Amino acid sequence: MRVNAYAAPSATEPLVPTTIERRDVGPSDVLIEIRYAGICHSDIHLVRGDWGPVTYPQVVGHEIVGVVAEVGAEVTRHRVGDRVGVGCLVNSCRECENCRAGMEQYCLNGAVGTYASVDRDGTITQGGYSTHVVVDEDFVLRVPESIPFEKAAPLLCAGITTYSPLAHWQAGPGTRVAVVGMGGLGHMAVKIAHAMGATVTVLSQSLKKRDDGLALGADEYYATSDPDTFEALKNSFDLIVNTVSAPLDMDAYLGLLRLNGTLVNVGAPPEALPVHAFALSRNRRSFAGSSIGGIPETQEMLDFCAEHGIAPETELISADYVNEAYERVLASDVRYRFVIDIATLA
Ligand SMILES: [Zn+2]
Ligand SMILES: [Zn+2]
Repeated sequence: MRVNAYAAPSATEPLVPTTIERRDVGPSDVLIEIRYAGICHSDIHLVRGDWGPVTYPQVVGHEIVGVVAEVGAEVTRHRVGDRVGVGCLVNSCRECENCRAGMEQYCLNGAVGTYASVDRDGTITQGGYSTHVVVDEDFVLRVPESIPFEKAAPLLCAGITTYSPLAHWQAGPGTRVAVVGMGGLGHMAVKIAHAMGATVTVLSQSLKKRDDGLALGADEYYATSDPDTFEALKNSFDLIVNTVSAPLDMDAYLGLLRLNGTLVNVGAPPEALPVHAFALSRNRRSFAGSSIGGIPETQEMLDFCAEHGIAPETELISADYVNEAYERVLASDVRYRFVIDIATLA
């Protein structure tokens, strides 16, 4: 079927309305009528070729929620009319040890990304800035009724990207967590870490978003542009979640970790991040990375957010505002996630 979409024609041109082909609904597929799609910083990096060559035209968007419109004959997990979501993955090998452990994002044979990936049939996957998508049922999530639909989309990338490391490194009562950066990812990290029971500190460039940070659940808020911050907070945190996708002085942040503390990167700057061995050996610190989450953990995150009444702060836009929204994301001028109302694409 041909469906409406917003696509990047090249690395340097604005996105434009177009139509794309979606595959027929196979026996294990679900056809989703997309209602909302979030705008992730990764969408912008990808369409502009920052992460390598892209086959254009390319539709991005991997924060997708919608309603099931049709299911294949063998589908058992979803029914027509269900509220569902799709995140960054639409397939994986399902056989390697990581897939078998429910961590398809680390598939040893390469997971299939929701956009700009080679799909099983050899076509290039096209993302959620579109009216419909066809996805294997195993990669479709249930979106609990209590999460407002227009706010649910960003959970599928920003939510799981921050939930997974917070869960893995056991943020909770008695742990001190710092969140670096108060953007799309950072504001979700604050909400989720707070809901898990941790003491939460935001480390942001300035104090401009301090009131928001405290309102979303942070206990403390510091400006990293102030050198006193690094002195005042040294040896303090069990876990630092770095959401900034630009190079930072990693040694300075590692110095904020207490004994056995971990600094985990979820932002993805294209540059290398140099670290001195002494910054790690003091306090037996770890420098780690984390990538989104597997399907079981993404469902766990959605259920956790429903249970704790957590949803992203969003600004709803029409599809024809996407190019302006990109400029505002790059200027950190959004509180805190743009969501496209896909009805404006129909
Ligand atoms: Zn993303
Ligand atoms: Zn695999």
